[in-house]
Amino acid sequence: MVDSSLPLSSSAASSPGEESEDTSAWFPYLYDTHCHIVDDAPEHYARVSELRTSRLCLMSAKPEDWSLVALLARAHPSKVRPAFGVHPWYADQVHTATTTVSGDDDAKPAAGEMTGGTDEPPQPLWWIQTLRMQLQAFPDAVVGEIGNRLDRAAKDPKTGQIYDAAQQMRAFTAQWSLAAELGRPVSIHCVRRHGAFVDHLLECARMPDHRWPPSVVMHAYTGSADTAHRLLALERTLARRSPALQPVPRFYFSLSSAIHGGRGSARTTAWVSAVPEDRLLLETDIHRVQDIDAYMVDACRMAAQLNGSGVPAAVIAQRTWQNALAALAEP
Ligand SMILES: [Zn+2]
Repeated sequence: MVDSSLPLSSSAASSPGEESEDTSAWFPYLYDTHCHIVDDAPEHYARVSELRTSRLCLMSAKPEDWSLVALLARAHPSKVRPAFGVHPWYADQVHTATTTVSGDDDAKPAAGEMTGGTDEPPQPLWWIQTLRMQLQAFPDAVVGEIGNRLDRAAKDPKTGQIYDAAQQMRAFTAQWSLAAELGRPVSIHCVRRHGAFVDHLLECARMPDHRWPPSVVMHAYTGSADTAHRLLALERTLARRSPALQPVPRFYFSLSSAIHGGRGSARTTAWVSAVPEDRLLLETDIHRVQDIDAYMVDACRMAAQLNGSGVPAAVIAQRTWQNALAALAEP
């Protein structure tokens, strides 16, 4: 989630030639696979119908968002794809335990972080049944945004407390399992913990009865090209086990000009050019409705630049559209 009131930082403000580029043909193919427009002022919601971007996958961050996401999905069924879930930043709101900050919490996983292990008796996830009902009410809904304690931002800005890692892991695992059970795609928040995330999935893969969501979108992916390859290798490994395992998850990697910024770092360039062309997605991750179109154009242009293969942005738009339809299981 980022503040789009800041100026566009990316390639959109580059050369005069690019400024005059006709982007109108892109919009029918632009699919924002991850945004947070429920956080915009409600009086701006009506602007959704004016957006030129064709589709939005609208994330929830916390249970209070669910009714608003449902409202927007019902009001704009051809435009808005709903996603329901609990973001790790808000996992403390759905549990009670927190842990006081101590030193560099990015240095290594806390005890039980990736395993969900804790010595304390587990607390009931009071909200998971509500989430189930919400997903069942919207058969096309995605599970998102979910993740586990994966960056420094996962702390209460007022108290300086980080949210309990084990509780976040329980919230993540419950939502992952629900997505698998209901056959829903998941949108994953992961920052500076990609290696640990892959390790966790490899642990899951060792359990023969583990159930997988049909697709896993690594939203605003900031991992390395190597980690992307590890996820795709896991997918191939699971596919070789089929038909015993159904479904095999497909991994997708999403680019956001708001998150990746400018022309992108060397790391971003590396993964954008490394992932297969059928696994790249575009997104905004912003909350201001009025900024969605500009950020989507920016993301598309940025993807074309970072791709490095000379594929025009118009073609990137069409490819990422098809990818989004596949990733989010659009009919
Ligand atoms: Zn987000």
